[in-house]
Amino acid sequence: MKKTFKKLVAFVLCVTMLVSLCAIGASASDRITDCDGKCEHYPAIIVHGLGQCNTWVVDDNGEFVLDDEGNKISSFPAYIELGKVIARVLAPALLSLIFQRDIGLTEAASDVINLCFGINTCDENAQPSKNVYTEKYPYPVSECQDFEKEEIFGHVPFNLYETEQPMDHMYYFTYNSFGNHIDVVEELYDFIQMVKEQTGHDQVTLIPLSQGATVASALLDYHPEVMDEIHKIIFVVPALDGSSLIGDVFNGRISFLNKEYVYNGFLGELGLLDKGTAALIEILLRILPDEVLMSALEAAVNTLVTDVMTTSTGMWALCPSGDYPTAAEKYLSSPEKASIRKQTDRYYQAQLNADANILKAVDKGVQVFCFVEYDTPMINVGESWNSQNADFIIHTDSTSMGAHFANVGETLPEDYVQQNTNCNNPAHNHISPDRVVDASTGLLPDTTFYFDNQRHDLTARNDVILKLALNLIECDDTKDVYSDPRFPQFNIARGSEKLVELVTLAGTVDTSALSAEDAQELAAAVAEAERVIDNTIGVVGEVEKTEERLSACLIKAGVLEDPEEPINLDIFTKISPVIYQYFGTDGFSEIAILIASKVIKGITDIVIKLI
Ligand SMILES: [Zn+2]
Ligand SMILES: [Zn+2]
Repeated sequence: MKKTFKKLVAFVLCVTMLVSLCAIGASASDRITDCDGKCEHYPAIIVHGLGQCNTWVVDDNGEFVLDDEGNKISSFPAYIELGKVIARVLAPALLSLIFQRDIGLTEAASDVINLCFGINTCDENAQPSKNVYTEKYPYPVSECQDFEKEEIFGHVPFNLYETEQPMDHMYYFTYNSFGNHIDVVEELYDFIQMVKEQTGHDQVTLIPLSQGATVASALLDYHPEVMDEIHKIIFVVPALDGSSLIGDVFNGRISFLNKEYVYNGFLGELGLLDKGTAALIEILLRILPDEVLMSALEAAVNTLVTDVMTTSTGMWALCPSGDYPTAAEKYLSSPEKASIRKQTDRYYQAQLNADANILKAVDKGVQVFCFVEYDTPMINVGESWNSQNADFIIHTDSTSMGAHFANVGETLPEDYVQQNTNCNNPAHNHISPDRVVDASTGLLPDTTFYFDNQRHDLTARNDVILKLALNLIECDDTKDVYSDPRFPQFNIARGSEKLVELVTLAGTVDTSALSAEDAQELAAAVAEAERVIDNTIGVVGEVEKTEERLSACLIKAGVLEDPEEPINLDIFTKISPVIYQYFGTDGFSEIAILIASKVIKGITDIVIKLI
């Protein structure tokens, strides 16, 4: 009996040793870093924003579909097969133009949207098309191939700045922005486990950008245990409560479906075209009668929203909680939408819990930081675009976790006093120097940084934002907005990449060929540019002024061409409103008929008087 027992113990010991040896062997082979999880750098995982990764079109066998030049084809935001589009739209467009009425154009507009965006339509269970392949990087940036690094740094150019964070401790988690939100959240959970294994660290830092914040926020709700595995979260312009743009679109409040607005200011205020070009296009729209144009526009939007956007739970996660119930009722109340509805309702709960979950994480020791941009009007696609402060793409209530703002172009009332809703340190001044935001009303007043005038889509060009993010990633020196005078709570928009390029160009100038005076001015301009680039506290207009000074030197030195004056189309900004004033939204043909009938009436009147 004793012998048998000993044998059994020996056997169990043997098996245990073998199993543990195998386990060590497995983890050692998965391990990518040398630090064994013992270095001071936590592995960082970037969770990107809308469309910030490669999603490729593949055929039914999973093979890449290639274009005429043999390149892979992106599915985001659409897969445009120009030949098919032209074939579908050319005849109806020409006929409608010639006969000045809708001859199949509305139907064609709807079909074209399906042709181009249909690849991003999800099925009745909110599963994306099998014809979309999302490129993944299940290894740190240091292990990425050049084309992968190019893709990553193209979206988040951390490579441009010095950092102590080793690139084998930096990861880029990718997902399909039109994909299944719950699946993406699960993938992020697994990704974190993978990063822990590869690095040996037991905690990671998450950097959710924009739409990525919806994924991180859901992760905290669906997997609260993950809070123990997170060291720090750095939210960058997070869509924590979606974007009012999607809230408007999903509730049918679309500004450009109002013809009075389309023909009178919509394009000029869009912020994507210069005012002259916008006014010229506004005039050219009159080539079709207004009813025809509006009908085609409406059909295109309806198809895009109903057939594409509202089938994607990734898109639904961008709908603000305040707009969700009515939008869900509108698009997801039929029985065939039940599966999607179940999933979006689940995220809606996570969205309602977002603040509480973040505070729970903070209580558990997770350091949470946030970057907010403000004072750029929301893109004017949704009707509520100018009703609150925004960063062009997301309203600030969402990115700041509830901070109180004056609207764009306005300031808080003179008698406004700091509310201290979430800050109880009376020594803190959380009112921005421009008196636009009371940061004490945001969820995390002491760890939220604000950037005045910064546009959401130009975030990656703001070197201060990137430098601050890297500072937070590489170490824990910065605890809050008071830790480092280089990074105050309130800062401004800027983009210094052109200035950096000019400094590099200045290095190529043969100064011996310049006059002493010019050489001296060039050296002074370069010194000033370097000071501006290194300074992380923005001064309004400083970058532009320095660029101008240095450009002038470089033009004089013959290494930079004098920029050509752009064609000035400003005259159209005067013409378009006059046409609107006299002819409303009428097309040219209607205007011509109107003028002709007035002329004929005038002549008839004269003739009648004469006889
Ligand atoms: Zn390490
Ligand atoms: Zn405070």
